[in-house]
Amino acid sequence: MRRRSLKITLSAMAAAVAFVAPQIAGSAPSGDPRAEREQVRAERAQVAAEIDTSKASLAEIDAALQTLQDNLATQQASLAKANEEVAQATKDIADAGTAIRRLTKRVSLLRSEMRDRAVRAYVTPAGDDILTVLNTKDFTSAAERRFYIELRTQDDASVTDRLDGASADLAYQKRKATAAKKRAVAKQAEQERLTKSVANAEADQQQVSDNLASTIDTQVARSLKLAKTDRALSAKIAEQQAALVARLAAQNAANQRSADQARLRRAAASVSANGKESAPSGGGGGTATVTPGPIDSGVQLAYVQGIPVNAQVAEQVKAMINAAAADGVSLRIGNSYRPVSQQIELRKQNCGTSYYAIYEMSASSCHPPTARPGQSQHQLGLAIDFSNCSSRGTACYQWLSGNASRFGYYNLPSEAWHWSTTGK
Ligand SMILES: [Zn+2]
Repeated sequence: MRRRSLKITLSAMAAAVAFVAPQIAGSAPSGDPRAEREQVRAERAQVAAEIDTSKASLAEIDAALQTLQDNLATQQASLAKANEEVAQATKDIADAGTAIRRLTKRVSLLRSEMRDRAVRAYVTPAGDDILTVLNTKDFTSAAERRFYIELRTQDDASVTDRLDGASADLAYQKRKATAAKKRAVAKQAEQERLTKSVANAEADQQQVSDNLASTIDTQVARSLKLAKTDRALSAKIAEQQAALVARLAAQNAANQRSADQARLRRAAASVSANGKESAPSGGGGGTATVTPGPIDSGVQLAYVQGIPVNAQVAEQVKAMINAAAADGVSLRIGNSYRPVSQQIELRKQNCGTSYYAIYEMSASSCHPPTARPGQSQHQLGLAIDFSNCSSRGTACYQWLSGNASRFGYYNLPSEAWHWSTTGK
């Protein structure tokens, strides 16, 4: 995996692209628009991979991710085409080989027939009836045999014409085989080159994924630190990180082939299996412990009451639940962390599968209305829905409204059960 510490802004990136583009056009094979496009996209992706995810705006990150995705798609499409071309060249070689074997035999029969006819012009050999001759010929197929029987009925001029024709066909097939072999070698070289390009495109994506994950982790810590002194800024940072989690999930979904991503997907699957919105079983008599969990889309998870929350808040959530229990109040977590991949799937079902439909279209344009991915603090595991806090009259709500802020948790006024580090 390549890691670059180079930090540049996107405006520098745009300048770099503008600067690099003329050189690319000069170095690409002339008259091959596909190869030129591959090269331009690869260069742009390399620049996009160096985006500083901690400083870039969401729009800049979206643009970089799109550039990386376009590049991967371009390189993959070219590789698929090269694979097809290698397969076609291999088939052409085999077909020409079959035709060469058939025509070689035909030319040899025609030549021997012409020799026989030349001899017959002077003498009439004994046993020159067709059956005797057929027995002396070495036919490897019924078609050859039929060809020979038919040949015997033709006049000398036709036999000569047929020999000329078969010889020309044979020469043509040999040229075809040579050309196909040459093409196969060239396409195999292209195949190798493009296999590397696809691997590079995946590595570029992986690098940005890694950077996004570490940015999210760092900025969530910053948001939590600010929660007591500047809740507005804390909330703003957390909202941006929730949006980044959505981008990272989309990026991970697009980056199917990496083994590391397969591991993340397995972790996400186990989280979603545990993360269903339901009352926790047992609840440990109202008290809580923390169990470490996997990382999903850049969010390091831990389990409290068997429910995944952001690992960075697990201890304060545990402390809050235990303080409530000491006051005789049971706090039950209904759900906290929700993988953004679930939200993306819902958007695909209800809003459409385009980038716009998934990430940008308003919730009310979907059927049924569905919130945009990355809009909820649940996607960072910083929000908790308590299952026994359905209204302001509950003991759960009463206790939380008097004490939750001591543990860094605030209520979303429209939902009595929803508490988060930002109140959003
Ligand atoms: Zn909620």
